[in-house]
Amino acid sequence: MPNEPISMEQETNPWLAQETRFNEAANKLNLDPGILKVLSMPTREITVHIPVTMDDGTLNVYTGYRVQHSISRGPCKGGIRYAPDVSQDEVRALASWMTWKCAVVNIPFGGAKGGVICDPKTMSQGELERMTRRYTAALLEFIGPEKDVPAPDMNTNEQTMAWIMDTYSMHMRQTVNAVVTGKPVNLGGSRGRREATGRGVSIVTDQALKHLKMKPEETSVIVQGFGNVGSYAAKLLWDKGYKIIGIVEWDGALHSEDGIDIGELMEWKAKNRSIHGFPNAAAADKDELMLHKCDVLIPAATENVITSLNAGKLQCKVLVEGANGPTTSVADGILEKKGIFVVPDILANAGGVTASYFEWVQDRMGYFWTEDEVNQRLERIMIDSFNDVLQYAIAHGVNNRIAAYMLAIDRVAYTTKQRGIYA
Ligand code: NAD
Repeated sequence: MPNEPISMEQETNPWLAQETRFNEAANKLNLDPGILKVLSMPTREITVHIPVTMDDGTLNVYTGYRVQHSISRGPCKGGIRYAPDVSQDEVRALASWMTWKCAVVNIPFGGAKGGVICDPKTMSQGELERMTRRYTAALLEFIGPEKDVPAPDMNTNEQTMAWIMDTYSMHMRQTVNAVVTGKPVNLGGSRGRREATGRGVSIVTDQALKHLKMKPEETSVIVQGFGNVGSYAAKLLWDKGYKIIGIVEWDGALHSEDGIDIGELMEWKAKNRSIHGFPNAAAADKDELMLHKCDVLIPAATENVITSLNAGKLQCKVLVEGANGPTTSVADGILEKKGIFVVPDILANAGGVTASYFEWVQDRMGYFWTEDEVNQRLERIMIDSFNDVLQYAIAHGVNNRIAAYMLAIDRVAYTTKQRGIYA
């Protein structure tokens, strides 16, 4: 019922958001109804209750999830997030997004996601370590290099991955570094992984410009979120001559029509832990700056920032989704009517999982690539994937997001059919 009004709660529900796009793409593909049923649900959902001894000696129990959406194309792959608002619906949606993302960039993984309901800001390192190790132990038979390979996500990092790798290895009685990606480089992490998502965002932005016959030096960019994805994307684009005229953060924004020196801003943020007070740009209103005129807008912060409430007011020509799920499906229609060229999240931010794939390959070979080798391989995959999606959009007369979903679903449906259903 695309024309029936829906509440903002429904519009921003992550499971409904992915389901809407999945259904539209699957209908366009004329997908076999049986295969549609298989792909619309996760393969496995695991809930664990994790007892943790807190620093004061009391016992707490945390609820954690791991959802494995698809094993058709290879082991499952997906991050683990720690946050108070983690829910099974959210983890389920993110797991299926991972299946489509891996298929868009044609890497041999299915999708998974994990999460633990907790408030990591209030927990000590010791408490976080004990929770992570017990969560890993509870999932022991379900994860592994050939089964399901976790990675960092919101509020988890290289240290968390090192704990998971160590716990798993202790149980296996040998070091198994390919069980997780996003590890520190000295424990089998990949060079270039840290910058990979931002690098991928910058590569697809170049490709969008090429397609639209725009020039980097005449292109203004606004980036929302100056964290891992946003800051590296901004820096790489700035290095290539793009003019970064705005940076939006959760607590304020910076604006300069002459362009912001991103190298200087990164140094400022590293020293001051905030973009506030940066001397070479004016302070701006964060909501207004998102709607300011620019050529390229890159939401790289969080989900549901472009909704039916503000999509009509965007003034960009190109929207490159660094974040996962920044645009609601209702906003999709508005952007399409406005003629905004969208590079959807499952393509735009797939540089991260692609570099994770490289990490898994290197761990299994025990042979590690130079940063240049990683970057060159990443560039090849991002350019090919951008072109695949664009060709699909043109051939089927659909927008880029539906084209990306169609391409991904087609690939997963093909392997599912080819393998057959075991019974
Ligand atoms: P991060 O925590 O490093 O950075 C996020 C930044 O956004 C922070 O600087 C934060 O202050 C800012 N922010 C948070 N809420 C905001 C708001 N409402 N308005 C403006 N700014 C806000 O996280 P990240 O790793 O850069 O991830 C950003 C997004 O990209 C997330 O949606 C994540 O799921 C997605 N993503 C990340 C990767 C990766 O490799 N890191 C890969 C794929 C997708």
